[in-house]
Amino acid sequence: MENSKTSGFVHSIQSLGTVDGPGVRFVAFLSGCPLRCSCCHNPDTWDYKAGEVLSAEEIIKRALRYKEYFKDKGGITLTGGEPLCQPLFVKAVFSLAKEKGINTCLDTSGVFLSEEVKSALSYCDRVLLDIKYTNEEDYIKFVGTEYKKVLEFLDYLNEKNIKTTIRQVVIPTVNDDEENYQKLLKIVKSRKCVDKIELLPFRKLCKIKYENLKIPFPFNDIEEANPSVVKEKEEELNNLIK
Ligand code: SF4
Repeated sequence: MENSKTSGFVHSIQSLGTVDGPGVRFVAFLSGCPLRCSCCHNPDTWDYKAGEVLSAEEIIKRALRYKEYFKDKGGITLTGGEPLCQPLFVKAVFSLAKEKGINTCLDTSGVFLSEEVKSALSYCDRVLLDIKYTNEEDYIKFVGTEYKKVLEFLDYLNEKNIKTTIRQVVIPTVNDDEENYQKLLKIVKSRKCVDKIELLPFRKLCKIKYENLKIPFPFNDIEEANPSVVKEKEEELNNLIK
């Protein structure tokens, strides 16, 4: 009862998504993020009160309309913004989802690890962990937080055996070098919870969002990544972790 009434700020919903977790998924973008990643595609989600207030029960009710599409792999994904800014809400949605037999997936930057976050993670079937860079300097410069927090988060996922996909946006001239890929491989190979690496090509479709918000897009002058080159690298890395 307590969980069903727990409410959160939801920026937007994608009823049937295929890129944020396994299979076909009901994807809710939660509002709010304290980070300011230079490559952020969703600056419109930074505001903690953007969107509408929905109860966990309402999210599940809406997701259940699409249950027939989930089949054995699909389910619910919570993303953002940074969904772990609302850990009690994440916990409420995921615990209700589990009661209904729905697979749960969380897309996170992995920099928050409070007791509330740990409790939310206990209802999570898979985490999509966005490791933006593989060194402290770039984290400070381009994210505004410490790299070591992400590794601590990953270690916790490993300890709890929570299936993990490592995601990284490939940004030309910033993190598309072999040194970064090798570090990524090293991180992944030493944590058995990770079974997949996803490399996403840096795009600039979000420019319009920055223009609308009247804030500069920090990576405006960086070229977009070549999707086929990124795909090839992704396959190469995944073959190396099998
Ligand atoms: S954590 Fe995600 S939502 Fe927050 S600034 Fe970074 S990319 Fe954007």
